[in-house]
Amino acid sequence: MTTKHVCPRCESNKTGTLTQSPVPGVWEVYHCEECFFTWRSTEPDFITDPAKYHPEFKLSRADLDKSDVMPVVPPLRRR
Ligand SMILES: [Zn+2]
Repeated sequence: MTTKHVCPRCESNKTGTLTQSPVPGVWEVYHCEECFFTWRSTEPDFITDPAKYHPEFKLSRADLDKSDVMPVVPPLRRR
């Protein structure tokens, strides 16, 4: 199933299905292209439902615009 979902954290509809359960129809994992949040369909509604997601952990478009780039992975240490 590739139903579009609204991101619980930033409420963007630019989301997609990241993966599905090995046994079809048990769960799916979705991701948000705006804030990179990922969530599983079977998590509690305070994680999956934008209206019930904890307000202190919400991100707005303005928050995303002023945030720095995703931290890069540092170079591997060589021995
Ligand atoms: Zn998001």
